[in-house]
Amino acid sequence: MRVHHLNCATMLPLGGRLIDGRGHPFRAASLVAHCLLAETGDGLVLVDTGLGTDSVRDPGSWLTGGFRLGSRPVLDPEETALRQVERLGYAAADVRHVVVTHLDLDHAGGLRDFPHATVHVSAAELAAAAAPATRTERLRYHPPQWAHGPVWRTYPDTGDTGWFGLDGVRGLVGVADDVLLVPLAGHTRGHSGVAVRGEDGWLLHAGDAFFHREEVERPRRVCPAGLRLTQWSLQAHRGRRVANQDRLRELVREHSAEVRVFCAHDPVMLARFV
Ligand SMILES: [Zn+2]
Repeated sequence: MRVHHLNCATMLPLGGRLIDGRGHPFRAASLVAHCLLAETGDGLVLVDTGLGTDSVRDPGSWLTGGFRLGSRPVLDPEETALRQVERLGYAAADVRHVVVTHLDLDHAGGLRDFPHATVHVSAAELAAAAAPATRTERLRYHPPQWAHGPVWRTYPDTGDTGWFGLDGVRGLVGVADDVLLVPLAGHTRGHSGVAVRGEDGWLLHAGDAFFHREEVERPRRVCPAGLRLTQWSLQAHRGRRVANQDRLRELVREHSAEVRVFCAHDPVMLARFV
């Protein structure tokens, strides 16, 4: 299965090396929104959407003030998943399935661009977005982004046997066997990773389960202070987030030859694939 790695939003938050570990603290850092586009025998599968064309055209209506202030997105229409799908020679309707790691607006902001797609998400994540229970949940989700009424398929985080030592991993209804939902809660209530088997082996898109490569690639977690603070302020459940980072670190240590693990926002991790 051919898999394309796309950056579907560049963000320039203030904080320099406190965010991305490079350069002066008073310059802007640069983060990406790493998405996958898989060419299956049964249409395209998009993993996370980045920002949508609505968000880029009219950020005042489609993005929250907090997100615009904190993330400082570039808002380039050419970076949207829709434009990139079209540049590859496809149409929006060719995207049959969208799998989202979670419903934060930098991951689900493009759902409206693919109204024909079934949207696969964990049941806990859709429940959190539909009925936010905490202040953090009320601030993070932006319901207009799914007001068009997508066809949802939801999945519990229990059940299937382990995949490389991770629990609750599930295949997706109607999607090729080579795409799996991997429960990695903590950043949000129902946050998941998405595993995709490409031509060179398994990929695990870990979404926002971690933000910096050294959180999982060093024997002990290493993360710039600003990114640590960001993750702490956005987390739904600290214990689960930390436990899942520990599991991912173990996965990288034990199975890096079989599974390539990356997160959504680390530009160095994206550059390894493009
Ligand atoms: Zn994110």
